Amino acid sequence: MTATELVSYWRGVFEANGIPEAQESSEYIVSYVLGAKTFHSLGAGSLSTPLTLEQQQQIQKLSTKRLQRMPVQYVLGEWDFWELTLKMRPPVFIPRPETEDLVSLVLEEEIQRNGSPAVNVGHQCPTVVSHPVILEIGCGSGAIALSLLSKLPTSRVIAVDKEEAAVNLTRENAQRLQLQDRIRILRYNVSSGSWEQLLPWGPVDTIVSNPPYVFHGDMTHLAEEILSYEDLGALDGGNDGMTVIKKILALAPCILKDHGSVFLEVDPRHPEMVENWLQSHPDLSLSVSAIHKDFFGKPRFLHIQKHKA
Ligand code: GLN
Repeated sequence: MTATELVSYWRGVFEANGIPEAQESSEYIVSYVLGAKTFHSLGAGSLSTPLTLEQQQQIQKLSTKRLQRMPVQYVLGEWDFWELTLKMRPPVFIPRPETEDLVSLVLEEEIQRNGSPAVNVGHQCPTVVSHPVILEIGCGSGAIALSLLSKLPTSRVIAVDKEEAAVNLTRENAQRLQLQDRIRILRYNVSSGSWEQLLPWGPVDTIVSNPPYVFHGDMTHLAEEILSYEDLGALDGGNDGMTVIKKILALAPCILKDHGSVFLEVDPRHPEMVENWLQSHPDLSLSVSAIHKDFFGKPRFLHIQKHKA
C-alpha cells in the first residue's frame, strides 16, 4: 500500500471506531513513519511509492495506540512547540498551541527590558548584556522554559514541577536541545516547598506559568484522550480553578525583584477574579498590568507586576 492508501485506510478504521480527528491522526502517523513532519510535506514520489512491510507494521502499531484513544502526541513520542521538537511521554502534560502566545509575551517583555542582542548591537551605546533569571512553575515537558532559553541567549531559567515524571522529561528535553547549561530543573510543590529553593541565582525577573486552571466542575467535560492519559493534576485548578494561581501569587513577592513580572495562562473567567483577589490582598504588592487574548479572542493571559511595597 502507498502512503495515500494507508492514510485513507486508517482514517476509515479510526472513523469506524469513533476516534476524533481521524484524518489528522492517520496523516500524522503515516508521515512520522516516513520521517516527515506533515503529510503535506511528503513529495508526490513518496506518496505513491508502496511502503515496506516494516513501515506498514510500524504504522499499525502506532495506530493501535491511537485506537485506544491515546493522544497522537504520545503515540508519536514527540511534538513541536514553538520552534522546538520536544519528547512527549504520558502522563506529562502536552503543551497546547495557545501557550505559544504566553512564550511570545514573555519574550517581548524580556527583549524590551534587557534589549535583545540583535537590536542592541550598537554604535555609540555600549551593549548592556544582562542575565535575566526566569522561573517557570509547572514546567511539564519543559516547553515554555526551553523555548525561552532558546531565544534568550543570556538568560537563565529555573524550571520546577511537582511531578518527578515532568522533571525527568524536562531534563531529557533540555539535553536533547543542548540547553542544559542555563537551566536548573527541580522537583518543587508550590503548596509545600520552601521558596528559598527557588533562588539559586537570587530574586528573579520573571515568573511564568501555565498552571492547572480548569474549574474542578469542568474536568468531566474534558476529552477522553486527556482524562485517560494526561496527568490531571496539571489541569485541575480546584473549585474556582484558582488554587494554584493563588499559591503562585502569594509566593511571587518573595521571589521577584522589584518591578518583576508574573505571566500566567488562565481561564477566561479568571482575569476579573484575579484582579479582585489582588485588590483584596494589597500586602502582596502585585497588580494586573495587562490582559491579553488568545487566538480565539478569549482573555487568556495575565501580566502581573510587582510594585514597591
Ligand atoms: N487549556 C488547557 C486544556 O483545557 C488547560 C490547561 C491548564 O489547566 N493549564 O486543555
